[in-house]
Amino acid sequence: MEQKPPPHVMVFPLPLQGPLNAMLKLAELLCIGGIQITFLVTDHIHRHFNIQTHPAFLIRTISDGLPENHPREGGKYLEMFESLRTNTRPLFKELLLQSGAGGGSPISCVIADGVLGFTFDVANEVGIPIFDVRTLSAACLWLFYSLPKLITSRELPFIGDDLDEMVKSVPGMGRYLRRRDLPSFCRSGDLDDPSIRFYQTETIENPRACGLILNTFEELEAPILAEMHNVCPNIYAVGPLHAHLKAKLAAFPNSLWEEDRSCLTWLDSQPLKSVLYLSFGSLATLSRYQLMEFWHGLVNSGQRFLWVIRPDSVDWEGRIPVELSQGAAAKEKGYIVGWAPQVEVLAHPAVGGFLTHSGWNSTLESVYEGVPMICWPYFLDQQINSRLVGEEWKLGFDMKDTCDRNVIEETVRNLMQVRKEEFLRRADEMAKSAKASLSEGGSSYSHLDRLIQDIKTKSAQVGKFE
Ligand code: UDP
Repeated sequence: MEQKPPPHVMVFPLPLQGPLNAMLKLAELLCIGGIQITFLVTDHIHRHFNIQTHPAFLIRTISDGLPENHPREGGKYLEMFESLRTNTRPLFKELLLQSGAGGGSPISCVIADGVLGFTFDVANEVGIPIFDVRTLSAACLWLFYSLPKLITSRELPFIGDDLDEMVKSVPGMGRYLRRRDLPSFCRSGDLDDPSIRFYQTETIENPRACGLILNTFEELEAPILAEMHNVCPNIYAVGPLHAHLKAKLAAFPNSLWEEDRSCLTWLDSQPLKSVLYLSFGSLATLSRYQLMEFWHGLVNSGQRFLWVIRPDSVDWEGRIPVELSQGAAAKEKGYIVGWAPQVEVLAHPAVGGFLTHSGWNSTLESVYEGVPMICWPYFLDQQINSRLVGEEWKLGFDMKDTCDRNVIEETVRNLMQVRKEEFLRRADEMAKSAKASLSEGGSSYSHLDRLIQDIKTKSAQVGKFE
């Protein structure tokens, strides 16, 4: 009897660091599960990103249609999506149609970031099953799904400017959701705001895919996932992906910036749970004023800190502040790097707190390692992630919408000293539940098994395989 080739999945991530990292880990987990992977990245990412993957992966590249000097981030990220939708779409279709033509097995399934809505239409046109992945929190995705409801119930746009007013029309979140916890674009007051339109449109497509893969775990977002099942019946909650992969195999580090590992040596000489780690992820930027408020707040708190300041993340206004270049007050207590091996830092016994921008990957990494957080969200899903940390999970403080050295000083002291034991205990409970979800029979472990089985079944039904 002729043996069928293994399913061949094309994985198409969003060309941004956080989503890309998460998708690489998912792809590796599938590869371990016996699935052949072609990993599709934009030319831009391929040029700037030293992608190290499982040796069995095929890497393919595709144009995002933008000139090389386009920033592809910040206020310009919608331009990138528009270009992907118009310029990349026909190229993607061509890739799928031609797969297998030059030897090798044809693509039998697509797994794409669900925000790339066009991939769903293309996969349908060529008759290939598609699964969507969203790499942000289920909570944020649920807010995107709820945008129409927010509008019909007249909670959006806001009437008046009280950001502390409670938002009632999002099922499952009525107890804690305030206006200020909605994605930041909701504050624009304009329903024609391009971001509101974009997230509404692209998210609507998700339930039409064969299934929705999320980087979360059931125990963490159970109430939200229960609500989402009403819209998306087939959800695979397989996170935290970074730890899931580690549990199955050693992960390959992937980074746009070189990691400065000297900070691990510095941490080795610090007392247990004494260091606050600060990082605002790969996209957020700070003004010089904000940077200095953080600096003074930290130094005045008297706590030890390890701070990631990406060289491109601050508007230096032409000069590096003398406090930072000399670091007189902080020399013994503080350490600054341009980019850190974050997962290892969070797992280090000297780290007792994380001041974060509440990116979803950073949040999951911190939850998994049992590190309490101070949240200072920058945009999008970070607004709701930080609320979950502070109010729903009680894992620390939500410091959004303020950047004042006195508030920072007090909040840091509260996390690292005054309420240290309480938060560490809570974080430890959450970490245990995250680890349990990845062990044999745990929720994420079982969801991944089911996903692999479903990909195999769907792939076997594709015409090219008959
Ligand atoms: N990260 C890192 N070193 C750093 C800062 C961040 O390796 O110095 C990693 C971090 O572990 C996480 C990712 O960068 O996996 C940031 O993703 P997240 O979703 O938290 O935020 P984004 O960068 O998308 O805003």
